[in-house]
Amino acid sequence: SPGTTLSLRLIPYSENLWLLVARDVSRLLQLEQMRRDFVANVSHELRTPLTVVHGYLDMLDPAEHPDWAPILGEMQRQSQRMTQLVEDLLTLSRLESQDSLHEEDHVAMSSMVGTLRREAMALSQGRHEVSAQDTANVDLWGAHKELHSAFSNLVSNAVRYTPAGGSIRIVFRRDGDGVSLEVTDSGYGIPAGHLPRLTERFYRVSTSRSRESGGTGLGLAIVKHVLNLHQARLEVASEVGRGSTFSCHFGAERLRTRETTGMTP
Ligand code: ADP
Repeated sequence: SPGTTLSLRLIPYSENLWLLVARDVSRLLQLEQMRRDFVANVSHELRTPLTVVHGYLDMLDPAEHPDWAPILGEMQRQSQRMTQLVEDLLTLSRLESQDSLHEEDHVAMSSMVGTLRREAMALSQGRHEVSAQDTANVDLWGAHKELHSAFSNLVSNAVRYTPAGGSIRIVFRRDGDGVSLEVTDSGYGIPAGHLPRLTERFYRVSTSRSRESGGTGLGLAIVKHVLNLHQARLEVASEVGRGSTFSCHFGAERLRTRETTGMTP
């Protein structure tokens, strides 16, 4: 009937016989759409009251209320976390609802790498050694805001899951026909059994460590969606106690000749 979505699978049955299995998945898709709409609507509705609470909390100066200082500090931290969670849920809903990028442009990767380096240093506050290298001499074609949000998530994870004294390295380099943006840390690492599920919403290796580190559990789900929209892939190599490398690989079709600034030395 009209509006029905079928999922078709061809299964080998015997030497010259195949089975065609057709499944009506319309209801499943409808439920998935309802879930997405619900999350998007709730997140949207939570945004305004949270902004108000957050704003008023920021106006209360702990120095003027010394007895309340620890409580105020905790309330500010938690409202900041809730605001971040709502923002991440909205970003994810937006990414899930589109199957192609609406606005693509030339993304200057040398300045992107510089921005990521500064972000890593700001988050680390001198607790890690941060380095960044751009050897690709090429730019990308894609959605700047989304790519920045994906790379930033990887950088923030690297800082949050690496104890003080460790190192964070950001590299943009040629990789086969394409390029890779890699974020390597010398942190806690991830046990191999967890790797396949890392990009699921709210999936966490160690719930307590992740909560303490201030994440929302949505970072890698956002990364996966952004990369999918760019036909790019995420690879993770990790060793417990030694650190992790998250690589975003972009194919040749995404490469663009680097634009010069027009300034000659
Ligand atoms: P979170 O907000 O919890 O960090 P993410 O989706 O960004 O959520 O990451 C999912 C989980 O993957 C994290 O909770 C953490 O357990 C693990 N993880 C992500 N990046 C790293 C990393 N660089 N080193 C170690 N573990 C990581």
